[in-house]
Amino acid sequence: MIPVIALVGRPNVGKSTLFNQLTRSRDALVANFPGLTRDRKYGEARLDDHPYVVIDTGGISGDEHGIDSEMAEQSLMAIEEADAVLFLVDAREGLNAADEALARHLRQRNKSFHLVVNKTDGIDADVAVADFYALGVESMFAIAASHGRGVRSMISEVMAKFPKPPEAGEADEFPSSTRVAVVGRPNVGKSTLVNRLLGEDRVVVYDQPGTTRDSIYIDFQRDDKDYTLIDTAGVRRRKNVKQTVEKFSIVKTLKAIDDAHVVILVMDAHEGIVDQDMHLLGHCIEKGRGLVLAVNKWDGIEPDQRDWIKSELGRRLAFADYADTHFISALHGTGVGHLYKSIDAAYESATRKLSTNALTRILEGAVFDHQPPMINGRRIKLRYAHAGGQNPPLIVIHGNQTGKVPTSYARYLEKIYRRELDLVGTPVRIEFRTSE
Ligand code: GDP
Ligand code: GDP
Repeated sequence: MIPVIALVGRPNVGKSTLFNQLTRSRDALVANFPGLTRDRKYGEARLDDHPYVVIDTGGISGDEHGIDSEMAEQSLMAIEEADAVLFLVDAREGLNAADEALARHLRQRNKSFHLVVNKTDGIDADVAVADFYALGVESMFAIAASHGRGVRSMISEVMAKFPKPPEAGEADEFPSSTRVAVVGRPNVGKSTLVNRLLGEDRVVVYDQPGTTRDSIYIDFQRDDKDYTLIDTAGVRRRKNVKQTVEKFSIVKTLKAIDDAHVVILVMDAHEGIVDQDMHLLGHCIEKGRGLVLAVNKWDGIEPDQRDWIKSELGRRLAFADYADTHFISALHGTGVGHLYKSIDAAYESATRKLSTNALTRILEGAVFDHQPPMINGRRIKLRYAHAGGQNPPLIVIHGNQTGKVPTSYARYLEKIYRRELDLVGTPVRIEFRTSE
């Protein structure tokens, strides 16, 4: 599982500066979920090849009335979701009452936290830090977020206690059960769909209890095949415990995507595709997950609008056109059973073993039909291909001048591989290596 690090502290201590430092090199795909997060910002970051999620909690303005009344609920949620909390203070202002209140608060919540003394540029760091000993926090760092100083060694230390995720794409990592995550914005119909998927005649469910923070994992069988449904909406828990509506959680959603073989991204036909759908989709693609698109609430769409919606979807989702799209009504169950066929196809495509022989033969055919270009009077030669990993399939192509293969040609090869191997529902990655 990917660790989640929350940045907390009063306004102006440098949280957004640090957030930007940490996520800078990456597209903050999930940052800024308008309307959902208000004060929270999410970003993906990476320490070498170890990914993590950063949450910038925004304004906690704790004043003399005590932190609880002042701390935004959003920030509290971020702290609940986090595996580690970085508590920022301002070296130039020294310790103040709001910092003390926040420290007390974190202690009450039993959260392990690190004290980060920021803005230590141009001042004596040891002296600056000494001022904060009074907070009694064992783990302290002195940094200058705006200069990036001390940031890397701090993150290395914080991340050291989290195990690295296993390398993706190793051959026998696949269990017999297909893990399917149902994700989407609030109210698109995830809970209704989960109930439908599990409520089908041919489904046998083996219930297991869930934890509060993470999604619920539900094992079931259908037509003798094993699946694990990753339920981000918390349907089962709601049934068994109390009927409170589960809050939408981005961290939970991201984790579910990370942990799935195949993601069902649920959208609402009435609202079309909104930015948040695109963010989630972008994340699925970046992670190389198998993908099935479910456009829900199709029952409420007038027949004369349906073609328009379909063409609009096709246009906006062209970059994910490898995924099957289903127009369903989770409420009435229409089209829900067909999702299984796409799930199976995506899983099978994503995890298939591809032989060097077949991959090389397809490469030869593709090159024969359409040669790669000449570079400075010398033609790019592509010689052979082999599989470099599964889920998503990685095809490694060897040749000379491979650094110069144009993107359009790489895309052409991808298209041919997809067609010849009948790969559906999964991204296909192509990597070139020069072997002269
Ligand atoms: P936030 O409200 O906690 O998110 O704080 P910001 O990241 O917006 O930073 C508040 C101010 O402090 C901005 O003017 C930053 O440029 C400045 N700042 C942030 N980090 C540093 C630092 O390491 N050194 C100095 N000198 N200023 C910093
Ligand atoms: P979630 O927040 O994504 O889990 O969404 P819910 O499953 O709780 O559904 C939100 C609302 O949409 C509820 O009122 C559902 O009854 C309704 N809904 C869900 N699926 C459909 C559908 O296929 N058609 C229609 N018309 N309404 C639906």
